[in-house]
Amino acid sequence: MQFSNVVGQEGLKAKLCNSVQNKRVAHAQMFVGPVGSGPLPLALAFAQYLACTDRTPTDSCGKCDSCIKYAKLEHPDLQLIFPKNKTQKIDSGTYSSKDFVTEWRKSILTNPYIDLNSWLKELGIEKKQGLINVDDSREILQNLSYKAYQAEYRVVLIWLAENMNAASANKILKILEEPPTRTVFLLVASDTENMLQTILSRVQIHRLERLKETEIAQALASNQEDLERSKRLASIADGDLNLAKQLLLDDTEITNAIGFFIRWMRACFTVNLEALQDLTDEFQSLGREQQKALLSRSSSILRKVLTYRALPESKDKLLKEELEFVHKFSQFINENNAADMLTALNEASYHIERNANARIAFTDLSFQLSEKVLSEAIR
Ligand SMILES: [Zn+2]
Repeated sequence: MQFSNVVGQEGLKAKLCNSVQNKRVAHAQMFVGPVGSGPLPLALAFAQYLACTDRTPTDSCGKCDSCIKYAKLEHPDLQLIFPKNKTQKIDSGTYSSKDFVTEWRKSILTNPYIDLNSWLKELGIEKKQGLINVDDSREILQNLSYKAYQAEYRVVLIWLAENMNAASANKILKILEEPPTRTVFLLVASDTENMLQTILSRVQIHRLERLKETEIAQALASNQEDLERSKRLASIADGDLNLAKQLLLDDTEITNAIGFFIRWMRACFTVNLEALQDLTDEFQSLGREQQKALLSRSSSILRKVLTYRALPESKDKLLKEELEFVHKFSQFINENNAADMLTALNEASYHIERNANARIAFTDLSFQLSEKVLSEAIR
């Protein structure tokens, strides 16, 4: 992947290229931003740039031997680490990213903006948690004990590093601080909140901005989509290219999430315990990543309600399934209770990430949301 294939993020691209021109490449760097803003493609383009033998001041050449290998993510000096879990095919006691690398390459080459939930779905394990385990770290250490194969820089790329468990993170702390010469660690994360401080203190952090609507529309349109539809999807996706791409292919998951949130808020508002019970069952039956995705979609709809309240013309950004609900619900939502509700949703997601009981977390969250919505309705 070249920088020219990465949507937007022009400031960061220039900064990264300069670091190479000035020979000031930090040995551990972390790209932080929601998946839809493209931290992975940016890290991959940078890795390719580092290894390119004929780079220009602004991009890799795309033609040299190294670039050709990078284009397939098959460069021998690129080690790929990412979350996964046991599957039907691979269910031995020890397993690492290496066992899944063929599938990962295929997914990333199809859509470098893919999110964790979609990736786990491709492995057929969407109900499990994606993990980076101690066997991955063992392989990093082993791999780095050999000489670099051919490139000027050797890269260890860790996608969604927040999924490293403590054992895995602790095992690479030392080498992250002092890697062998010409070895660069590129970590990719969607946020730094759940990341160990010991990792954070050892990396140079690059924060990605949300993509602009025009950038997303252009990226979709260059895929031969008609411009009007691209613009509309870009507007709905709110800076998330992955979401825009998903909507383009199949919007069932999004539609389901919207339907769930609407039923949920109705049940909270009417304190309908029976309905809440059904929703809790439904929530519990999902995999952990799906639960987190659902909470994140819920936050996004809530933010849309808030925006709609302040700027009714933002209704152009709403999906037809959201329109009526957002309009009605906006009477009961204001800056105060929305902030509390968003915090509650965030916290629930955090607890689910950390193996909290989904039933308890969801029930607790429902009561908190119910209280916040009603407090405004009564006023
Ligand atoms: Zn090249």
